[in-house]
Formats: sequence, C-alpha cells, structure tokens
Amino acid sequence: MYIFEPARRGIISALELRGSAAQALWQRAYAVRKERADKIFLRGLIEFSNVCAKDCYYCGIRKSNVSLHRFTLTKEEILQAAARAHEQRMGSVTLQSGEICSENFTLFVEDIVKTIKQNFDLRIVLSCGEQSYETYRRWKTAGTDRYLLKIESSSPRLYAKMHPQDENHILLNRVRCLEDLKKLGFQTGSGTMIGLPKQTLADIADDLLFFLDADIDMCGMGPYAEHSQTPFYELREETPSPENRLFMSLNAVSALRLLMPDINIAAATSFDALSSRGKELAVSAGANVIMLNLTPRQNRADYSLYERPEETLDKNILSELKKYGETVAYGEGGDSQRFRARNIK
Ligand code: SF4
Repeated sequence: MYIFEPARRGIISALELRGSAAQALWQRAYAVRKERADKIFLRGLIEFSNVCAKDCYYCGIRKSNVSLHRFTLTKEEILQAAARAHEQRMGSVTLQSGEICSENFTLFVEDIVKTIKQNFDLRIVLSCGEQSYETYRRWKTAGTDRYLLKIESSSPRLYAKMHPQDENHILLNRVRCLEDLKKLGFQTGSGTMIGLPKQTLADIADDLLFFLDADIDMCGMGPYAEHSQTPFYELREETPSPENRLFMSLNAVSALRLLMPDINIAAATSFDALSSRGKELAVSAGANVIMLNLTPRQNRADYSLYERPEETLDKNILSELKKYGETVAYGEGGDSQRFRARNIK
C-alpha cells in the first residue's frame, strides 16, 4: 500500500507540491521510513583530497578552478579521522575525493581501506568517481563495503549541459561504472542534484526512475547549491529560488522513499546550504542517514563543491535529532535493507 505509483507524471506532481500538501507527502514518506527502520544511521565523512582531473561546470573543485588550494590528506590524517568515527561510534565512514585515475591513487586508497579495516570496526564507503573495473575490484578486495557514484543527471541533454563535451565526461561511462560496482558486489549508491539551471521536473522524475531501474541500495540527493567560481554560476538567473530548490529536494526525497522503501537515503550536506534546518527537514521527509564531517577543519573550506555557509560546519545535528525524538543507531554499520534482502535470496 505504500509503494508509490512509479509513473513519471505522478512523481512530477509530487515534486510540484508546496505548503501543507508537501508536508502531507513528507509525513507519508516519514511513516514509511519509520515502519521500515526506526533508527538514523551515521556516516563519518572524510573528504581526503580535492584534486580532480575533471571539470564539471557546477563544481567548485573542478580542475580549472585555479584559485583553490589543492590538498590530499596523509595516511595518518585519514586514520586519525577514522579513529574519531570509531570513537564516536558512527558505524561507517565515507572516504570522498575528486576523481583521479592513476596507479598511485589506486594504491593509496587500497592501503587506506586495508588499514582502516584492520584497525577499526567500521563499514567503508568510497566515493572516488569513475574508475576501471580492475580498480573497483582491487578496492573491493581491500575491504570496501559500499561505493557512491552520483549519476548527477540521467538525462543526456542535461548531462551534456553540465559537463564539457570530451572523453572525460561521458554519461554512458558513468552508467557502466554503476553496473560494474553492482557486479562486484558493492552496496551501490547513486544520487543527483535538484534545482539545477536547465533541469526540468521531468528530468528529476527520470532520475528517480533511473535509480529504481538500476536497483540502487543507497542514495545521496540534495539541492543544487552554487559556487561562484564555476560556469554554472553564470546561469544563476535561470536557477530556481533557494526555497523552490529546497521544496523540490524534500519532495524528491519523499518520492524516492515511497518508490524504494528499503534503501538508505542520506540527508545530503547541501540541504544545510539552503536551510539552517536542512538535514532535519530531509529526515522528516524520509531520509535515514546523516553525514557528519570528519575532514580536518583546516581543509574543509578547500573541499568546496559548493559554497557552504560557515555556521553549517559546526551545527550539532545529533542534539537536534534527539530533540525531535529520533533514535540514532550508534555503532551500527547501517547496511541497506535492499542490499541485505538481495543477498539473502
Ligand atoms: S563533481 Fe566530482 S568529478 Fe566533477 S569536478 Fe567535482 S569532484 Fe571532480
């Protein structure tokens, strides 16, 4: 009875909701999440390198942004962050970076994953972009549990507007990577941005249907937030208002929760760029994963995919969640129910 009618038109209607009608949608999705899983899972986020070979038009750490200080954390710094995740009983860590395809980078990540697995009881999520099947296989063998590769947009038309037209930015390659990750047995995640210039509601609906068709296990999806050092910033007159982006994103979280009740949905960090209560709102709309930033403070401003307001870096989301009566799953790895069910069969 809770399964959302997987029709494009139905999702578009859900994305259009505002006011009390939107709140009714969020409540319905929240009830589905509560029925499935009462607890909120934690992920420690370690943004370990802002070096990237790609040039996505919306992203602040794109290689053409020469005003940025580039950094890669040392192995010791990454392990210190993982130790904090372990001490604070987060259950899992996400290691995220720009996209680098080289043997040195593959080896570095392989070594980090093995060392974290040897020393801490943590699930590991990697988010290091498009890689070869062999690289993914090595990282899986090293102990990686999950991989997050956002599709960013499943629409060839919009994808082409978001990226340079070259061999580094090919939508079909991204789809191939998601297929490889599934084949290799990763818990596989994807995601998209909501409220991009030139994005239609039909594009967003198609992204949600793409996730259903790809049978993903987890999703990171949030509002588009601008970065002034990007080509997309020039399109800000065409960008939906912050309020519209927030509503569309919350509605998209709810629609996806109703479409795929058993996946993990993260309250993306970009929610906090548009509202001081962004992540709490995402939880109220059906998200069940909270990311807590463990990147060393001196490096955070340089990992600027978008421009984050300073105060969002320090907000104590856990006490906020407690205030709203949520139970946090301290020390639990938080595997996706969909993944578990698929692997029991
Ligand atoms: S979105 Fe990812 S791949 Fe694209 S420029 Fe930013 S970090 Fe690099």
